Amino acid sequence: MSETWNSCSMCKKPIAYGALYWTCSVSTCNRARTQLLFCSPTCWDAHNADANHREAWAVESCAPRTREHAERLAARQQRKVDQIEAEEDALNEDDILIVASRLKDYIRRKSGMNTSTKALGPLSDIVRAFADQAIESAERHGRKTVLDRDVPKY
Ligand SMILES: [Zn+2]
Ligand SMILES: [Zn+2]
Repeated sequence: MSETWNSCSMCKKPIAYGALYWTCSVSTCNRARTQLLFCSPTCWDAHNADANHREAWAVESCAPRTREHAERLAARQQRKVDQIEAEEDALNEDDILIVASRLKDYIRRKSGMNTSTKALGPLSDIVRAFADQAIESAERHGRKTVLDRDVPKY
C-alpha cells in the first residue's frame, strides 16, 4: 500500500503519491490556502454541482511521486505566494494616505490595542473621500488651494 500524499476535498479518500488526481479549473478553487483536490472526476462533478460555477472543468494532474518531491513543490509554491503577497503590498502602498506608525502609536496609546496594516486601506479611503470634498469646495470658491475650512466637518 502506497503512502498518502493528500486527501480528496469531497469524499476525504486518500490520494497516494504518484496517483492521478483532479483539480477545479476555477482559480478561486486553487488558492494556496484553499486548494481543492479531487480523487476522481466524479468527486469534482459533486463539487461543481455545489459550487455552481458558470464555466468549469476538472483538470487532471499527477500527485508528486515522493514526499521529497512534494516538499520541493510546496516550498516553490510558498515562495510564489510570498512573492505575490509582497507585490500586493507594494501595489497597495500607493493607496495609503495615513502614516502607519503614527496611527498605530495613536491606537496603542489610546487603547493598548494593536493595529492591522490592513486597517490603513479603509481609513485611507475615508481620508480620500474627505479630501475629494475639500477639493470640490476649493473649486466652488474659485481657489487653487485647499484650506482647512474646505475640509468637511464630521
Ligand atoms: Zn473523492
Ligand atoms: Zn471549483
